[in-house]
Amino acid sequence: MKLLYEISAEGRALSLLPKLDVPRAELPENLRRTSPARLPQLSEIDLSRHYTALSKRTHGVNDGFYPLGSCTMKYNARVNEEAAALPGFSRVHPLQPVHTVQGSLRLLTDAETMLCEITGMDRMSFQPAAGAHGELLGLLLIKAYHKHHGNVGRNKIIVPDSAHGTNPASAAMVGYQVISVPSNAEGGVDLDALRAAVGEDTAGLMLTNPNTLGVFDKNILEITQIVHEAGGLNYYDGANLNAIMGVARPGDMGFDVVHLNLHKTFGTPHGGGGPGAGPVGVKDCLVPFLPAHQPIKLDDGYAFEDAAHTIGTVKSFYGNFLVVVRALCYILTLGREGIPEAAENAVLNSNYMMHLIKDIYPMATDGICMHEFVMALEPLKKQTGVSAMDIAKGLLDRGIHPPTMYFPLIVHEALMVEPTETESKSTLEQAADVLRELHKLAHDDPESLHQAPIHTPVRRLDEVGAARNPRLRYAFPEG
Ligand SMILES: *Cc1c(COP(=O)(O)O)cnc(C)c1O
Repeated sequence: MKLLYEISAEGRALSLLPKLDVPRAELPENLRRTSPARLPQLSEIDLSRHYTALSKRTHGVNDGFYPLGSCTMKYNARVNEEAAALPGFSRVHPLQPVHTVQGSLRLLTDAETMLCEITGMDRMSFQPAAGAHGELLGLLLIKAYHKHHGNVGRNKIIVPDSAHGTNPASAAMVGYQVISVPSNAEGGVDLDALRAAVGEDTAGLMLTNPNTLGVFDKNILEITQIVHEAGGLNYYDGANLNAIMGVARPGDMGFDVVHLNLHKTFGTPHGGGGPGAGPVGVKDCLVPFLPAHQPIKLDDGYAFEDAAHTIGTVKSFYGNFLVVVRALCYILTLGREGIPEAAENAVLNSNYMMHLIKDIYPMATDGICMHEFVMALEPLKKQTGVSAMDIAKGLLDRGIHPPTMYFPLIVHEALMVEPTETESKSTLEQAADVLRELHKLAHDDPESLHQAPIHTPVRRLDEVGAARNPRLRYAFPEG
C-alpha cells in the first residue's frame, strides 16, 4: 500500500482555513523556515480513501472476536463516546478559572467516589495516563510514605513471577530492587517463599489478583498480612478489573494502593496508542502524598487542593479528562446491578469457552478460571511441531484476532484467552470450533499452519527485525 507521501501530488490541498480576523503576526526572521515543509499534498478524498483502506487492513473489536488476554478488548458502547464529545466536556481548557469548570470538577469527584467504592479505596488521582504510569505513581507514593516515616532501609519490592512485565519495570524505575517470588502449584503466590522474602528491607508487594494465569489467589488475605506485618505496603495491579468489579474489592483484600486501566475495563477503547487513564486509588495512609491539583467538593462548590506532602505532579494538569468522562458514563449506564453482572458474565464466558476446548488443549492451571484462561501448547508442539505462534496465525486466517502469546512467561507455548463479557454464546462456540479445527489441522497438515496466515494483507512479519532495526522514518527519494 502506498504512503501518503507517495500519493501526494503538487498543488492538491484540503485545508479550508477561516478568513484571518485577527491582526497578522510576523515571526522573527531567525525562527522562519528557509524552505517549505515537505508535507504530502492531498485532496480530502485521497485522505479519506487512504485511511479507510488502512482500517480495512487491520482487525478491531468492530471487525470480529478479539480475545487478547490481559488486555480486555471488549466492545465499548457508543454512548460513552457521545458523552465525551459533548462540547461542555470536550472544549474546556485546563487553565480556565475554576468557577467556569464546576461541572467538570463535579464529574471528576463523582468518578472518584464511584471508583473508590468499586476498589475499596479512600481517594483517587486521575493524573496517570496509562496503567504503567499508574504503577509509577503508586510506587512513588509508597516511597514517599516510607521516607516520611523515616523507613530508610526499605528498598525492595516483591513481585510474583507471574506478574505483568510492567510491574518489575516500574519498581526498577522508582529505584527499587525487585525480588521475584515463585508461584505455587495452583498458580498463586508461594506463601513460604513470600515469608522468606519479606523483611526490614521490604517496601512493598505488587500483585495482580486474579493474576495473569486467570487464577484468583485464595490466600490473598494471608499474603497482604505477611507484607503488612513486615512493615511493607501492598500494591494492587487493577489493570484488569473485569473479573471482580462490583464483586470483590482490593481495599478489602488488604491493599493500600491500586491502579485501574480505564482503557481496559471502564469504557474507553484500548490499543492503538490512544489516550488512556491509569487512575491510582489509595487508602488514607497515602492520601497526604497524592499528586497536586486534586479536585475536591467544598460546601459551596468544587475546587482543587494540594495534599499536605504532595509528591508533585506526574502529568500536566488533571490527566486525560475525557477518558474519565467515558468511565463515569459506563459506570452510570451499568449501575450497581450492571457492574457485577458484567464481571460475572466475563468470568462465565471465559469458563464456557475454556470448557469447550479443554479436552484437547491442556490449560496452565486446573479448575475454574476468572476472566481469562491460559492454554499450554507445549505438548501439541512436541507431537506435531505446531507452535502457539502457528495456531495464532491460523486464527488470523479465520477472522479471529490471536490471543496473547508467550505470556505469562512461566507457561511454555502459552496462549492467553480473554473472551470478555460483550461476546455472545455463539461467538464463543464459533471460536471454539475454529480452535478445534486448528488442532486437527496440526495433526493432519502441520505445514499449512507453518505457512499461515495466507489470507491477511501481510504474511508473517519479521518481528525481531522490526524490534531490532525499526524503520521509523520515511526516506524521501533524492532530488
Ligand atoms: C495492561 C496491563 C498493564 C499496563 O497498562 P498500560 O496502560 O498498557 O500501561 C499493567 N498490568 C496489567 C496486569 C495489565 O494487564
